[in-house]
Amino acid sequence: MAPCCPHKMIKTEKTLHLKSSRGRKVRVVREHYLREQVPCYSSLCLASCDNDGKVLPGDLTHYVVPDVGVVLDYQEILEFRELQGIILTQTACQAVHHCKGRRHYNRLRNLLKDPRHDCVLFANEFQEFSFCQRENGESQEQWQTRCVYSAAVWYYNHLAGMMAVVMITENQDIINQYSNLQSGVYVISVQEYLQNFWLELRTAHELYRSIRQALQEKESECTEKEFTDHLPAEVLEAGIKSGRYIQGTLSVNKHRAQMEASVRTEGLTNKNTELSSEVLVYGNKNRNRAVHGDVVVVELLPKSQWRGKVSALTEVQLEEKNGEDMQSKPMPTGSVVGILQRNWRDYVVTFPPRESPQSQNRNSQRILTVPWDHRIPKIRISTQQADALQDHRVVVRIDSWESTSLYPNGHSVRVLGRAGELETEVQTILIENCIHVPPFSDAQLREMPVNSPEKPWKVDPSQVAERRDLRESHLVFSIDPAGCEDVDDTLSVRSLAGGKLLELGVHIADVTHFVAEGSLTDLEAHARATTYYLADRRYDMLPAILSADLCSLLGGVDRYAMSVLWELDAHTLAVNKVWYGRTVIRSSYQLHYELAQALLNGEQDEVPELTQLISSEKDAKLAQLKQALEMLTHVARHLRAQRDQGGALELEGVEVRAQLDNEKNITALVPRQPLEIHETVAECMIYANHWVARMIQEVFPHQALLRQHPPPRQEFFSQLVESAKSKGFTIDTRSNKALADSLDKAVDPQDSLLNRLLRMMATQAMSQAMYFSTGAIPQDQYYHYGLALDRYTHFTSPIRRYADIVVHRLLAAAIEVESGRSPAKALASSKELDELAHHINKKNRAAQQVQKVSTELFQCLYFKERDPHKDQCCVANAVIYAIRDNGVLAFVPLYGMKGPAYLKNREGQVLSAGQDGHCEWQSGSVRRYSDCITTTSSIGTTTFTLFCHITVRISVQSSRCHADSVNLEVVSNRPHRSVTLHQTESHSRSQLVQEVVRLAEEASQQAQGKATRLSKLSKEEQEFCQSKSPNLYLLLEEIRELSLMDPAMCNHSLKIVMGSK
Ligand SMILES: [Zn+2]
Repeated sequence: MAPCCPHKMIKTEKTLHLKSSRGRKVRVVREHYLREQVPCYSSLCLASCDNDGKVLPGDLTHYVVPDVGVVLDYQEILEFRELQGIILTQTACQAVHHCKGRRHYNRLRNLLKDPRHDCVLFANEFQEFSFCQRENGESQEQWQTRCVYSAAVWYYNHLAGMMAVVMITENQDIINQYSNLQSGVYVISVQEYLQNFWLELRTAHELYRSIRQALQEKESECTEKEFTDHLPAEVLEAGIKSGRYIQGTLSVNKHRAQMEASVRTEGLTNKNTELSSEVLVYGNKNRNRAVHGDVVVVELLPKSQWRGKVSALTEVQLEEKNGEDMQSKPMPTGSVVGILQRNWRDYVVTFPPRESPQSQNRNSQRILTVPWDHRIPKIRISTQQADALQDHRVVVRIDSWESTSLYPNGHSVRVLGRAGELETEVQTILIENCIHVPPFSDAQLREMPVNSPEKPWKVDPSQVAERRDLRESHLVFSIDPAGCEDVDDTLSVRSLAGGKLLELGVHIADVTHFVAEGSLTDLEAHARATTYYLADRRYDMLPAILSADLCSLLGGVDRYAMSVLWELDAHTLAVNKVWYGRTVIRSSYQLHYELAQALLNGEQDEVPELTQLISSEKDAKLAQLKQALEMLTHVARHLRAQRDQGGALELEGVEVRAQLDNEKNITALVPRQPLEIHETVAECMIYANHWVARMIQEVFPHQALLRQHPPPRQEFFSQLVESAKSKGFTIDTRSNKALADSLDKAVDPQDSLLNRLLRMMATQAMSQAMYFSTGAIPQDQYYHYGLALDRYTHFTSPIRRYADIVVHRLLAAAIEVESGRSPAKALASSKELDELAHHINKKNRAAQQVQKVSTELFQCLYFKERDPHKDQCCVANAVIYAIRDNGVLAFVPLYGMKGPAYLKNREGQVLSAGQDGHCEWQSGSVRRYSDCITTTSSIGTTTFTLFCHITVRISVQSSRCHADSVNLEVVSNRPHRSVTLHQTESHSRSQLVQEVVRLAEEASQQAQGKATRLSKLSKEEQEFCQSKSPNLYLLLEEIRELSLMDPAMCNHSLKIVMGSK
């Protein structure tokens, strides 16, 4: 805080006792300025404090001031968003900085900045009346306590006794000494505080107990060294500079987590060229307490101790991409000498069952728990609930890993439930992917506009005055899947200038009108970055009042939109001009794909919106609508042809139709021939995204958020090329256009799966599309390979993607700049935008990961219930899509799953097929060729060829501490007898999810007696505006499986997805 206050200031001295990084104690005397005016950040203030920003509410029973010890040890408790009226003193915050380092200090600062947390910073040491001079002989701790207490008293007086102040401490002496000094200021323990004021906040009580337990255990730690000490920070820094040490991020090999880890050395400037990019860290001692993800410093071992990665083929490696050559030649090998940054997160662990032998003394209640993530070491937890927690999954945090301890010590944060139960497993998946989706808070929901029968929402006349009003001038309509409730894009097209010109319009929900930058809703949307889809539910990015109502561009109601209008030459379709801006629209028709296509084809004349009209009026309106659809199709064909010339890839084939029941639940998804109208709508969205990208990039060359799709690396295509060759097809991967053309030609009329599998391989070879800031990379890297566009961004789905919200704001600012005004708000710098892009990319990867893992979870839960040898559901048709040394990788279309199927087992037996194709384990040998694998036994030789259809039996390999996995066993080398039709495929997939949900509900109801927890849950969900609908997910999953690709990349399916929420 700079001493620049206009008020009276008093100069004094403050003596600090700091510890240098070498551990020496240093005494520092600093000039210190005291002021009369230091903001109190309370809404009760009567003293005209300069309370800029967050203030504590006045309607609380008390404010709470934690002492230094509480802030140091119990910060996690203070992080509960439910807690209110927290005052953090400067004294405590500085202590955190000194004792716990920058990372903890930053966490505290973020807490103070975050408006979702009701806490403020009081600069008590600058306040004339709360500052305490340190007395002779007074210890640092005593002085700090006196400072914090003095701050508490100051608040009580400053607010004229209107607010009680509670100081919390874990030190009984402090309670004894201070609790009776001043009425209105209470000194109590954390436990008393929680019990008196937050009795219902059970999780906070549990966390408190577990932290306290961990702290007590820490005091009684033994001193025998298990590991070498880490070197001090300055030694590490000097060593990195001189090239003696190497810095990088530790990555543990998931399949050999005990022994094998490596350090990726990004930005390595070491002259030693042998250190390409990776240093092997072999064994526990060399890893020296580093945990997966930590930024570590390694020292190379002498060359004689270098070694290779283990080359033996393990079961899991069968699944690895392209069967990369197992490297066994020695590589640079090192040991960890220090850790620059711990990147510990929340981990889900499983408590061992009672009977399992514990290496720890049972009486001390120190339990070794096993993390769900294979790469994380066992974590020792001190608890008094060991019995209650056995076989439960629990969220834990690591506190420390001393050199005297074989395992890190941690404390439990929250109990998720019994392992294997659906709810536990779903929560596990979320936490393991760092996805935090609490219900939307009351404060956040208060920001939302109201739309109720008593108080219907209306457009604001002042908004209408500022916007272009298209309600009368434009025929606006939407085309979405049947039953869609939230429409975030609409279209318009009309003829101008007597038919010489065409005007195409794309109108997107104006989400940023409702979500102000920096509001609580914005912060939450930013933190989530996307809507998350799991197998049986979704977690929305925005509250339902926006996503399903006020932002949804429904038919017949006035809505705000962000529009792009192109004026095109009617003949050449060249763009004359583009208009961007905020509009008011009223959509005339809410069409669904099948209806729109039927109208186009002249097969249908009934439109729901027109049924009430008399026939002459109806005919005129219908003709107008049909004409618009025809124009739209015409324009879209042209746009598509343009992109095709540039090499756009059609990697996905959207072939899905949702069957809905009366309550608009999807009962089945029927794959079907793609309609041209799908492509037409998608093309218009791509066009809008492209033109918005151009606009924001041109106006803000260094501060625009775009989306790139880097070209793939040629070597990744080898599997695709080789596989296609075995079927007589040539895949040309030299350019996106060549790839697209050759994929189109690789069609086997006998087997429609073949083309899907080839496209799946092509997709796997691709890089992922990513958001970036235009200031962060050179312009020649902006290219979107998949769409063949020089610039691209996301603009058309602001309801479920935060990137689109950012882009809407950028577009609004660009429009201001173009019209000669300066933007209302300062733009994010390129660096800030780049960080934002990284954040969104990371969250998108997490979203994809949870979607994938939750699908696998449902598959496992489904098959776990069945006897693979009796239940017909467990036997299915599969297609071989890759050959490995000891087996094949197979795709099961019926359930949309992929997995390895072994032809050779651990006992060395191989699978041989008899006359009827039925396979049996026999002793024998396997031989791998490029496009097939053969087994030879006394029965004879059996060949398994790429893309041939086989029959597999599906079973589940259970794991207590980790995720279960699905096992495929080859039953026959012929297709399954009752090869099912396409129609039933999707049906059984949706059944799978429904079945698992039903079983979980039953189990949960049984467990809870008559209290039906699940129905209660859904009530809560309604309250908090979080939906629990499997529908959309199923749709998405269907598309993903049909197209077998990254949903974030295929815009076409995104269109369907966003339209159907
Ligand atoms: Zn004040």
